Amino acid sequence: MADHKPVQADYDLRTRALVSVLTRKGLVDPESMDAVVEYHESQVGPHVGAGLVARSWVDPDYRRRLLADARAVAREENLTGFQSTDLVAVANTPSVHNLVVCTLCSCYPWSLLGLPPTWYKDSAYRARAVIEPRNVLREFGLDLDDEVEVRVWDSTAEVRYLVIPQRPAGTEGMAVEELAALITRDSMIGAETLAARGQQ
Ligand code: FE
Repeated sequence: MADHKPVQADYDLRTRALVSVLTRKGLVDPESMDAVVEYHESQVGPHVGAGLVARSWVDPDYRRRLLADARAVAREENLTGFQSTDLVAVANTPSVHNLVVCTLCSCYPWSLLGLPPTWYKDSAYRARAVIEPRNVLREFGLDLDDEVEVRVWDSTAEVRYLVIPQRPAGTEGMAVEELAALITRDSMIGAETLAARGQQ
């Protein structure tokens, strides 16, 4: 079957054409469009999720609350997207690895992680993550020991998941901001673990 994926330039052109028509017809206001873009560029993104994770590494009480009711924490911190959608935080440990997928479409905690990676929306990932998660993780470069239990979480319109990766070795004594800078988007989906810092 032929693969009809438009190239990025196609999307750019189409978007510009659409915006210019809608603006001319007075259906959109360019300033409010700029505000939306600016919001998605700076206000939401993986740095938001990383902030929660980093704090959970240094503050046991915060971690407990996050694991008990992440939505309540997100709402306390005025994060958008959790008025009618639940949020569940799941922690990786030496014996449990969590992976998030949306088998139906592409549900994702976008206010914590920004836009999803392309592979997250890919039908192969969505199917295989639940059928053969270990193989999928291996392809991501993550070779888990057989003893590690893999838990796959299927997101829906009602509930989104955030993986709390394990704190890397060699980060003792680091401040929350420094720790947050180490945390990748993919590690909060469960597609990656964080490498130890310092000595190899
Ligand atoms: Fe979905």
